[in-house]
Amino acid sequence: MSEVEKVFISGLHEKLIEDKVIDESQLDPDFRKEIIKFGGKDVMTCLQCGNCTGVCPISLKIEYKTRTTIKYCQFGMKNATLSTRWVCATCYRCYEHCPADLNPAEVMIALRHIGIREGIIPPFVKRAASNLMGHGLTVRPDESILKEREKIGLPELPQSKPDWESVKEEVVTIIKTTKYDRLLGIRGDEDVSE
Ligand code: SF4
Ligand code: SF4
Repeated sequence: MSEVEKVFISGLHEKLIEDKVIDESQLDPDFRKEIIKFGGKDVMTCLQCGNCTGVCPISLKIEYKTRTTIKYCQFGMKNATLSTRWVCATCYRCYEHCPADLNPAEVMIALRHIGIREGIIPPFVKRAASNLMGHGLTVRPDESILKEREKIGLPELPQSKPDWESVKEEVVTIIKTTKYDRLLGIRGDEDVSE
């Protein structure tokens, strides 16, 4: 922790305690170009108005809000942004309310692309992808789920139908053709836990 003195335009001086100091060596000047390469728009067009955070349905649940994430991207704070973006629901509300037409949702998706290539993959993502390969569903349907469904009168899961294996094969073909399995480092039969 360090103490810094902040001087406001009004002339007011205030002592602030900085618990995290980031110096230039931790910044990546090419980060904004990398975001563009993976489908995001130029984060430098962001006005920092905060609309995106205001309308984001998960903003109260996440450490870095949408506007803050975009600001960090502007600064090139790559490491601070990559691990937190998986909770974005890609609902695109931020896009609808962004006066700069930046589309923060696409920036979040680009951060995921970059994160995966840096090996930053949350276990829940790996588990969902592995289940998709192994079972054709992102949630592994175990005995307890099947019993509970029966108890409350829900229909059988599609995986218990005769043509489900061919559906699963198609899913696996798409995953292998796009090299999604290699990107995530999954085979479809692993037990991925948190
Ligand atoms: S709404 Fe758009 S311009 Fe405003 S802070 Fe969010 S990304 Fe930036
Ligand atoms: S797309 Fe993501 S960041 Fe944008 S409002 Fe929806 S949940 Fe929030």
